[in-house]
Amino acid sequence: MHSLVRLVVLSVLTQPLSSLAKLYENPRQLPNRTYDYIVIGGSTAGSVVASRLTEDSDISVLLLEAGGSNDGIFKSMVPGLVKQLGMESQLDWNYTITPQPGYNGRALLCPREYAAVSGDEGWNWENIQKYILRNEKFVPPADNHNTTGQYNPSKHEYDGAVAITLPGYPLPIDKRVIATASELPDEFPYINETSGGDILGVGWWLETNGNRIRNSAATVYLRPAMNRPNLDIFVEYEAALFYHTTARHEVILPAGAVGTPVFMQLLGIGDISDLDKFGIETIVHKPSVSEHPRLSNVFRISSNETYDELFRNPDLLDLAIARWNDSRTGPLRILL
Ligand SMILES: Cc1cc2nc3c(=O)[nH]c(=O)nc-3n(C[C@H](O)[C@H](O)[C@H](O)COP(=O)(O)OP(=O)(O)OC[C@H]3O[C@@H](n4cnc5c(N)ncnc54)[C@H](O)[C@@H]3O)c2cc1C
Repeated sequence: MHSLVRLVVLSVLTQPLSSLAKLYENPRQLPNRTYDYIVIGGSTAGSVVASRLTEDSDISVLLLEAGGSNDGIFKSMVPGLVKQLGMESQLDWNYTITPQPGYNGRALLCPREYAAVSGDEGWNWENIQKYILRNEKFVPPADNHNTTGQYNPSKHEYDGAVAITLPGYPLPIDKRVIATASELPDEFPYINETSGGDILGVGWWLETNGNRIRNSAATVYLRPAMNRPNLDIFVEYEAALFYHTTARHEVILPAGAVGTPVFMQLLGIGDISDLDKFGIETIVHKPSVSEHPRLSNVFRISSNETYDELFRNPDLLDLAIARWNDSRTGPLRILL
């Protein structure tokens, strides 16, 4: 995994943060103080952790994020532009995987999205599902279509913070894929709930999207926390590089599936043979730090019943953006 190109963030922060917030971009601006907790990585996990900790006004937190603020990142707000986020090096870390023999020697882009198989029972589905549900506010899809059979209402919550929904305005091909599943139930069983813990099959994927605008940990957790005096946020700061500060209790490391192991390796926690290569003294020999499984398949189809033309034709895209800006309608109102 190449992770050395340090460009500005991905950070899933999606709406402009309040200008009143204590948002620092220069280490000299940071108050000289000891915090109770230092959180390294201000994306999905870090935003929630920092927000929840600072609900207690006696707890002080410093949140460090290597990337910039989400302020004005239009693409992160528009559902239809979500894929553009993962392909733009200014908004992510430009990770690529090493050339894979199974992919004919190609080195593919990896928008830092990994599943972690930690072996820790605390992370199994039964244990984390209650936290997912606590987060969730299930809302009707953008086109208000009849969702019977597309999800299982009893598996969802309706008064959490993060809006979740089914895809609106399905294309004809979506229905054909679902119909195929019903013809081949042994190979591709139809599942009426893709967030139920059993996702082997074909079904309707849920989106973090409400009122035709994307939701994120930044918009629903970090943004409200920005007015708390016990939270400081430092963006454009890559922890471990240059600044020293102290945590009274803990340093919490939600730096992502790639950033977290890299950070641990820099500290000397990892496989001794990996660390030796870079002259890093091993403090804890832990080979699992750098082991990442990844399984995903993306298919290209031969059809003009897709939105591909939108991303090939800049004029068409401009029209769609104008429509979303004016009325939150048009193709970009849904995740593409
Ligand atoms: C294009 C795209 C769209 C997605 N859309 C959705 C969606 O709609 N809904 C959904 O549920 N999931 C979505 N996901 C998946 C989701 O983004 C990830 O599962 C989630 O962001 C993981 O959160 P995380 O906090 O663990 O890690 P990350 O989001 O990877 O965050 C890690 C953070 O740590 C920072 N960092 C790393 N190293 C350091 C360091 N040394 N010092 C300081 N900071 C550091 C990084 O800059 C980054 O901001 C999407 C993923 C992609 C790529």
